[in-house]
Amino acid sequence: MRKNFFRISLLGVGLLTPFLGHGSYAASGGSSSPTTVVIDAGHGGYDRGGIPGQRVSEKDMTLDVARRLKSVLAASGYRVVMTRDSDVFVPLGTRTAIANSNRNAIFVSVHFNSATRGGASGIETYFYSRDSLALASAIHHYVVGGAPSASRGVRRRGYYVLRKTSIPAVLVECGFLTNPTEAGYAQNASYRQKLAEEIAAGVRSRGSVSSSFSTTRVATDETIPLQPYMDQTRVTTRSKKSRSKRSARKSSRHKKKTSLKPAEIEARVASSDREG
Ligand SMILES: [Zn+2]
Repeated sequence: MRKNFFRISLLGVGLLTPFLGHGSYAASGGSSSPTTVVIDAGHGGYDRGGIPGQRVSEKDMTLDVARRLKSVLAASGYRVVMTRDSDVFVPLGTRTAIANSNRNAIFVSVHFNSATRGGASGIETYFYSRDSLALASAIHHYVVGGAPSASRGVRRRGYYVLRKTSIPAVLVECGFLTNPTEAGYAQNASYRQKLAEEIAAGVRSRGSVSSSFSTTRVATDETIPLQPYMDQTRVTTRSKKSRSKRSARKSSRHKKKTSLKPAEIEARVASSDREG
């Protein structure tokens, strides 16, 4: 993901994960037609993703994970649509149009992160609409569980592909390619396969997350405030454990800061085709 700014982690995912089971749901979800998963490989073509001078190209990593995810999901009975399946540039509006043209569908955008500070690390998962939280929580749970990287939390932010999709939509950042350790992981094909399998596990388990909402202490979109672009000011690299505790303490203090009026949100997330 291209970033000209640093981030501050406001929330961990500690509240989200304990109730998640490991059962899998049938691809059809009980309906006659299979669920469609629209897989969005971030960037492509002249848009390499990441930051200038980045050695490992984000667009190649996202496409490889997306292709692997397609295979895993197809084997599980899902219908799969790719917003791109080669090294081409696809405008964000086209990506969301593809997503919105499918019924009984969900949208998963695959990205890797970047920062000018090489120490920045971890996995984070974004959602925007309430309908997308269960999917985000489930995907994040599995990807963090299957990766050696720390959790940077499930976050709510108005990325274009999340705001403009009318189906449940999630954007997962599978680690920092600007971090030598995480870039090393990403360059390993078996690790990318693992990422794909964990994302798929999250897709399969999303139903068990939503069904737990009413009875389990979980984060909601009120406990995960919207995080606009310019709110991210500092990178922290704490362990999973300390981050989670710290985030829980900090969340209430930061709530007011991150609550923006819709107009302000729109202004701050003025889109470009290079976001994400
Ligand atoms: Zn990206």
